[in-house]
Amino acid sequence: MNSILEVKNLNKSFKDFSLKNVSFSLPRGFIMGFIGPNGAGKSTTIKLIMNLLKKDSGEIKVFGLDNIKNEKEIKNKIGFVYDENYFYEELTISEMKNVIAPLYKFWDKDAFDKHIKNFELSPKKKIKDLSKGMKMKFSLAVALSHGAELLIMDEPTSGLDPLVRGELLDILSFLIQDENKGVFFSTHITSDLDKTADYITLLHNGEVLFSTAKDELLDSYTIIKGDKKLLNEAVKQNFIGIKENSFGFEGLLRDRNSIKTLFKDNVIVEKPTLEDIMLYSTRRSLND
Ligand code: ADP
Ligand code: MG
Repeated sequence: MNSILEVKNLNKSFKDFSLKNVSFSLPRGFIMGFIGPNGAGKSTTIKLIMNLLKKDSGEIKVFGLDNIKNEKEIKNKIGFVYDENYFYEELTISEMKNVIAPLYKFWDKDAFDKHIKNFELSPKKKIKDLSKGMKMKFSLAVALSHGAELLIMDEPTSGLDPLVRGELLDILSFLIQDENKGVFFSTHITSDLDKTADYITLLHNGEVLFSTAKDELLDSYTIIKGDKKLLNEAVKQNFIGIKENSFGFEGLLRDRNSIKTLFKDNVIVEKPTLEDIMLYSTRRSLND
């Protein structure tokens, strides 16, 4: 398969946390949302991909190349938008650009100017006077000006107002019209993914709970509501997670094709949102 990003059995342990056999693969031409609660290990995974941290074991391939052996070549073609600020606060946008541009093999001056203008950023403004949204847009302008084939972003939407968030997500959808490109971004906000993402990888406590095409997830997973009498241990095994109260139960069923066999017509069936899927998936493994 022609993966633009492939992570296989990645392991990394800190004192109180480990990433455990993290695996996923993003084909060219698509957007993958990397989702999970705070502390799930998203930033750690992204730092390992960018070789900002040393892995314990596993394999990371970008453009089919080993991410460490071919680091320089790979990074020329990655647009990286990072959660933490890595710019010099005292420089202006224009000065900072002059520091960054020569670091890349390829730099499209016109593209940069165009993005800065579209984002309504003033080149004379100092980095320290930019809001979080403006810094993100500046990072994005840089990422889009050196011919990057793969965008990797760590929580690019966090702390942005809804308008700017919408703009960013539109830019990603536009970018991906080029079937050669790929976007991988982490978020803990599921609504970022509803419109934008093609694939979703859910990380929880350092483990991948699933990595699947979004449509497949939304088509197969189903919310079921019914009387508690319908539940026994065998039936419960078919659920990702179940909530019970005095009136009845609500649960996320893994495979909608099993509804008839399990419940005949005695339950209410609803389509889940990504938020439902994330909440049920992470709640269940908390109970395990
Ligand atoms: P996320 O980005 O999903 O919120 P992180 O990858 O930042 O999660 O962190 C996952 C866990 O790893 C957290 O419990 C965090 O405290 C821990 N962690 C991250 N970096 C380090 C480090 N350099 N040393 C020790 N623990 C770390
Ligand atoms: Mg993080």
